[in-house]
Amino acid sequence: MNATTRECPFCLEKIDITEITCSYCNNSMEGFNNKIAIKTNWAPIKGNDFSVVEQELNEISKTRIEFLATKSIKSMEFMIIGASLISLILAIIITLSDIKDSPAFIFWGFGVFALVFGLFMLKAKLTPRVFDLEQKHYYKGSKYELAKEKCDIIDIVAIQVLSEFISADNLISESNIKRKDSYKYEINLILKDAQRINLVESSNLQKIREDAKKLSEFLNIPLLEVIKKIK
Ligand SMILES: [Zn+2]
Repeated sequence: MNATTRECPFCLEKIDITEITCSYCNNSMEGFNNKIAIKTNWAPIKGNDFSVVEQELNEISKTRIEFLATKSIKSMEFMIIGASLISLILAIIITLSDIKDSPAFIFWGFGVFALVFGLFMLKAKLTPRVFDLEQKHYYKGSKYELAKEKCDIIDIVAIQVLSEFISADNLISESNIKRKDSYKYEINLILKDAQRINLVESSNLQKIREDAKKLSEFLNIPLLEVIKKIK
């Protein structure tokens, strides 16, 4: 780096020293946002994988919004639980009917496994993330007092939107299905001590931008976005 360039604190690209708005990420180099940027980590919190928890913003009232599981995720989870229950009913019928060489153990095994898996996934995905302006709290779960992940709304200083590049090379080793290079996006909270909390991740950039914008307007704090494209 020489005297005519400097590093953008958001996207870490080298930009001309005269640029007030970064030509790579469009973030302003001045004022409050710049102070947050210098202290905060701009690498994605979530790793390079496909474990996407699909939640979306729901406006409950003028003073309360919640991130909740999308309808498609909910219906998928209920289908897994439904299949497990059918399997368990078949297992009971076969066991009680005393058929010789019966395959009851297969139904018991599948039923129990699918039920435990289904309920575990359902709990993880149905756990809401709540922003309550009256209580002045953010928390993950059904009650602020019981939540492990929580903070005061006043301590949230900005919303961070980041992109994560997912290389097809990494994915082929995990499964035999060939996939294309892709991106995943995440919304994080930035706290006043520069700590971050991951809220949601999704492959749908439009939805992520929409929800991040609504959240920043609801909390009345800046929305800072760094979406990287491969050169
Ligand atoms: Zn930049």
